[in-house]
Amino acid sequence: MINVEKSQPAPECLALEKLKKDGDCGCKDVRLRLKHDFFNKCYICEEKAPSSIAIEHFIAHEGDLNLKFDWNNLFFACTHCNNIKHNSFNDILNCTDFSEIITECLEFHFTPFPEEKTAIIPIKSSPKILRTAEFLMKIYNGKTTNQIIEADNIRSKLRNEISHFLDAIEDYQHSLQEKYRLKIKQLLSPESAFTAFKIWIIKSRPDYMIQFGDLLPSF
Ligand SMILES: [Zn+2]
Repeated sequence: MINVEKSQPAPECLALEKLKKDGDCGCKDVRLRLKHDFFNKCYICEEKAPSSIAIEHFIAHEGDLNLKFDWNNLFFACTHCNNIKHNSFNDILNCTDFSEIITECLEFHFTPFPEEKTAIIPIKSSPKILRTAEFLMKIYNGKTTNQIIEADNIRSKLRNEISHFLDAIEDYQHSLQEKYRLKIKQLLSPESAFTAFKIWIIKSRPDYMIQFGDLLPSF
């Protein structure tokens, strides 16, 4: 999870749908704008171009029309994350609120060997940060059989992305060619998949910070 800036104002169809009986908060322009604003990436797990998407209500609306049709409450998520969040995690960090920078509140670590492990570590101890860490651990590990299979699939994509990123770092270190630095910069950009984990690969190592710290996205 990283910070994302949502475009304003709200798509016009939202206010029109709110007036209808059984209006649709996922009208076409809402879906297209969310896809664009969130870089076609689930804001929770950071899977790029997820095969199934959901219009996610940051605060579960539970029938409240103001929450259901509030543009600021609508986010782009995959169905795996949307199902786990449901109405149980209304109290997590809001990635569209830049007063809290997600990657300065939480560390994101993925270790492939000897045993694959995902760790989301709170850096500060506010209730919201602790809840977000708890929530993300559920996302990357699952609880029910279905969720565990889905989380395995997400981690497999995460593993590939991390491996791709580490290859780019190695290529740069061996060749010192600018094209690899550009590739690393692109892989650290907010539109890339699993950016939070790649940011923390750089932040975790002083030598990487010296070489690549200037390529980290500024939030
Ligand atoms: Zn997701």
